[in-house]
Parts: sequence; C-alpha cells; structure tokens
Amino acid sequence: MSYSINSLLIHGGIDGDETTGAVNVPVYQTSTYKQDGLGENRGWEYSRTGNPTRAALEKLIADLEEGEYGLAFASGLAAINTVLSLFKSGDVLVVSDNIYGGTFRILDNVFNNFGITYRIVDTSDLNAVEAAIDDSVKAVYVESPANPLLTVTDIAEVSKISHKYGKLLIVDNTFLTPYLQRPLSLGADIVIHSGTKYLGGHSDTVSGLVALKDKALADRLYYLQNAIGGVLAPWDSFLMIRGIKTLGVRMDRHIANAGKVAKWLEKSGYVSRVYYPGLESDPGFEIQNKQADGAGAMISFVLNEKYDYKKFFKSLKLVTLAESLGGVESLVCHPASMTHAAIPADIRKSVGIVDELIRLSVGIEDVDDIIGDLEQAIISSEN
Ligand SMILES: *Cc1c(COP(=O)(O)O)cnc(C)c1O
Repeated sequence: MSYSINSLLIHGGIDGDETTGAVNVPVYQTSTYKQDGLGENRGWEYSRTGNPTRAALEKLIADLEEGEYGLAFASGLAAINTVLSLFKSGDVLVVSDNIYGGTFRILDNVFNNFGITYRIVDTSDLNAVEAAIDDSVKAVYVESPANPLLTVTDIAEVSKISHKYGKLLIVDNTFLTPYLQRPLSLGADIVIHSGTKYLGGHSDTVSGLVALKDKALADRLYYLQNAIGGVLAPWDSFLMIRGIKTLGVRMDRHIANAGKVAKWLEKSGYVSRVYYPGLESDPGFEIQNKQADGAGAMISFVLNEKYDYKKFFKSLKLVTLAESLGGVESLVCHPASMTHAAIPADIRKSVGIVDELIRLSVGIEDVDDIIGDLEQAIISSEN
C-alpha cells in the first residue's frame, strides 16, 4: 500500500522499533557492533558505515522524495561534498547562477583545486543551459527556487536537456522539501538537502540528506559516504526524524504566512522589489505552480533607498537576524554580507544580490505580529 506524503512523514522509512514496539526508532548511540564470529555480523559493523537510527532517517528521506535510496550526512555541505566527489579532475559542472553561498565556496575554493570546475548559468534560461553543455560537462546542478533571489528553474525541462546529452541532474531541494516538490519524479538524478532547514525545522540540528533512484549511483555514494566519513550522528538522526513528522503542518502555516507577508510587502510602498514565486507578479510563478505544490516561505526584498538596511536589522524585535532559514521562528539575513559573502562582489552584483537585498524566512508565528514587526522596523530605519 502506498501512502500520501502526510502519512509518510509520520510512518515512512522504518516505523518504530520491531523488537520492543517503541513507536519511535531508538537512538542507537553506539560506534561499533559485536560480531558473532569472523565475518559474522548482524548487518551492522561500524557506525560510520551504518547505524540503525541513521538508516531509519535514510529510508525516510528516500520514501519522501519518491526515491529508492537515501543517505544522511553531518551537514548539507557534507552531503554536497560527497556528491561532488562523484566527479574527477577535468570534469565540469553547470551550476545555477544564484545558489547557496557555501555551495559556491566548495566549488570555487575546494573542488576547483582538484581540477573539478564549474560554469555559472542562469538555469531558468533553458537555452543558456543547453548552450553551456559540452563534452567536459558531467552534471547540471540546480537550486529551485534558488538562494537568495528565488529564481525558479523548470526541473523537468532541465532534466530533459541534461539527459539528452547524458549528463546528471542534481537538485538542491532545501527551500521546498519533498512536501512541496519532488525533483526525482520530475527527472532529477540526485536530490540534496540541507536538513538543517525545514526538514529539521526547529533550528536545533545541522544535517544533510541525499535521495536518489539509481542503484549504481547509490552504491557509489554509499561507498563515498563511508570513505569520506561526514555522516550524521545517531542523536541528530533521531532529531531529524522527529522534526520531519511535523513538516506538513509546519509547511502549511509557513506558506500561508509567507503568502500574506509577500502580498503585504508588495503593496506596502516600502520596497522596490519582492522576490517570491508565489506572487503572480513573479517571473517564476507559472513554472513554480506547475512543478511544486506551493511556493515555500522564503521571500527576498529590496528596501527603498530612503530606508537604511543596517538600521532595519537593528530595529527588529520579533524577527531575528541570523544565518539559516526554515525554522519555526522568522529569521532575516543580509545575503551580501552573510550567506553569500563567499561570492565575489562583482558576481554578486551582476546576479542581483545588492546590498539592500534582505532575505526573510517566514516563520510560523502569528502573521500579523510578523508584519507588524517588519513595518515598525522599516519605519524606524528611515534616513
Ligand atoms: C543551508 C544550505 C545548504 C548548506 O547546508 P548546511 O546544513 O548549512 O551545511 C545548502 N543548500 C541550501 C539551499 C541551503 O540553504
């Protein structure tokens, strides 16, 4: 029997503990496992290689993403590191032009040193994606909606282009989660998450997840996961499973709040631009509706010149200035100096990450309190 996502969030993966009947998968806080004789183990050898609590989370993300295989890592970047380790010197990746700053950093300053290079493309422009592909390209790497400008890429179309040339499509699905968007079913080969964000959902755990369908690719990734070793600890795996159970109810409120905040911002007269693919005025609106069940709860906006963004951040009372996103609390950040500081200033400006750009992760507090706080902070930041 196959369940809908709302049931899978609670019963997907490994549902409870067979041995005791505990309704939650226990925290197997162990590094190693007794072997009954040489070469005789009970399926577990060493917790870098495999741990039952982590395995339950890995099965869960596979189920939620409509994949076959899942992997859990110590952070989103540990997941990205492992996926990028599929490639070798001389390989080129085609990458979305606004991606998470840390993804840019690991490409630019780590994998570049090993001869794995990248080509930055506006992946919302399908012709540009196709034009960027040549023999040396091995994969296309997309975030949709992308960070921080919420640019929407047509995943099914980019998948067709990638596969026409025999390239892998890798999608970072952090902003939407499988509750809203399932890239594997749209044709992607590998899905990556920072579980730190909506999946965990409570700003208390750093984690990374990967899901995919292909057995050979999964075998290679399990090999790399064990070889590189950036695995998620048992306790953090437990916290992730616990967080995921409430993803649906949290997401529903996140989206309802974000829709209201985005509409308010657009009409407020305080901002020159609102980026949110749930707004009809947004260039990504139609594709977003086609490929996802909601627009998520990340909004970026550009404050009008008469407001001082530094004062705005200082004046907030409820909404918290912090890195990260996707938690129950509303968070704001300044991409140019925080999440995207690793991107050189000229590239940043050319893609639209201006100094006045503010990124808001709309939480699940009362929406009128969120709007009230934003408004008082904007008013008190007038020059
Ligand atoms: C946070 C984030 C990452 C990196 O994940 P960590 O858990 O911080 O290592 C990658 N992609 C996106 C879209 C993110 O928001």
